[in-house]
Amino acid sequence: MAFTISERCTGCGSCRIECPVGAISKQENGKSRIDPALCVECGNCAAVCSHGAVDE
Ligand code: SF4
Ligand code: SF4
Repeated sequence: MAFTISERCTGCGSCRIECPVGAISKQENGKSRIDPALCVECGNCAAVCSHGAVDE
């Protein structure tokens, strides 16, 4: 299982602030992306995303 961010992402940045390991970065298109090599699957990003953009 892995957390990923879909096209529904608005780039609001909430998940980037809440990620404890800095696994989420902002892409060129403004949307966020999770680095699977860094993610510890805590679920914070899914919990804070108000757009349902984090898939599990
Ligand atoms: S909280 Fe959701 S909408 Fe906001 S940047 Fe993260 S994935 Fe995108
Ligand atoms: S599940 Fe946790 S560690 Fe992984 S990207 Fe989301 S907030 Fe960061």
